[in-house]
Amino acid sequence: MKKHNYSAGPCILPQEVFDKSAAAILDFNNSGLSILEISHRSKDFVAVMDEARALALELLGLEGKGYQALFMHGGASLEFLMVPYNLMKSNGKAAYLDTGTWANNAIKEAKHFGETLVVASSKDANYSFIPKDYAIPADVDYFHCTSNNTIFGTQMKSFPETGVPVVCDMSSDIFSRTLDFSKFDLIYAGAQKNMGPAGATLVVVKEESLGKTGRTIPSMLDYQKHIAAESMYNTPSVFPIYASLLTLQWLKNLGGIPAIEKINEQKAALLYTEIDRNPLFKGTANVEDRSTMNATFLLNDESNAPLFDELWKKAGISGLPGHRSVGGYRASMYNALPLESVQVLVDVMKELETKV
Ligand SMILES: *Cc1c(COP(=O)(O)O)cnc(C)c1O
Repeated sequence: MKKHNYSAGPCILPQEVFDKSAAAILDFNNSGLSILEISHRSKDFVAVMDEARALALELLGLEGKGYQALFMHGGASLEFLMVPYNLMKSNGKAAYLDTGTWANNAIKEAKHFGETLVVASSKDANYSFIPKDYAIPADVDYFHCTSNNTIFGTQMKSFPETGVPVVCDMSSDIFSRTLDFSKFDLIYAGAQKNMGPAGATLVVVKEESLGKTGRTIPSMLDYQKHIAAESMYNTPSVFPIYASLLTLQWLKNLGGIPAIEKINEQKAALLYTEIDRNPLFKGTANVEDRSTMNATFLLNDESNAPLFDELWKKAGISGLPGHRSVGGYRASMYNALPLESVQVLVDVMKELETKV
């Protein structure tokens, strides 16, 4: 039986993506070839790449606005260094908002390239909130933030107004909510949180932001080279990109980001209402900063953990334990997780209440 998959990433994808991916492994487009054995230069795969890049921009409302979408290797973690390589001037500086483990890893890499200012941090509160009162100096090359903190369950509900280019790691909430994406000069996201399987990374970049650093950039790390090669500078991750395209098509057919946003809000409301109502549980993130994607919560009495764990496993739930740096539980409710799966979890939380 299919599990209710709450894994933080790689994560659940729509069933039709699994079905179509499986069919394409056996025979891709009636070509007599598996998607795993075709050339990335074949007409059929070039069409996949072109559509995936165009559809990503279309769903984000960035078509015809000077942006390019790229499918890269190396995960969001490689973007932590590609961003400063491509956007921080030699002898330049950048501003970073420290909202969690991933933001911190981005800061660590930027420090190799130049002055890296941390404008605010919630580290002292174990990243349970999003700092809001901070100033971004006007002379930095860019401001970097993390829209959704996968591990700590916090999410930026608004973004600072600033005259400097804004770069955002949207790995765990891209395509989940409406935003004015044209406010960002560069967005990146590892596919495996909300877009596809592991092995591809989406980068959406405003072309005019590039080529201004004065740095010599190694080819594989140079966004301009990848743009010129139409995201095929080297062999791309053929299968993860195909599965990502299927997920983007699924999202478009559903009505795009506005449609999935409504469902995501329903799922989050259902679960957070129970976390707040049920005396056995408490949420770990500041209420106004709670993520609609990753809900982090604890049992007030740890001794109930064995029974709770038994109940949710029996209900067919998978992937609920929290990240080791927060403990407790983390329910990742990415786009493809159905509302019914959240209802199953809420029912288990209520059942626990009747049993202790
Ligand atoms: C998972 C995650 C990362 C790391 O992604 P990789 O693709 O494994 O490098 C970075 N940022 C955020 C917000 C994440 O959730």
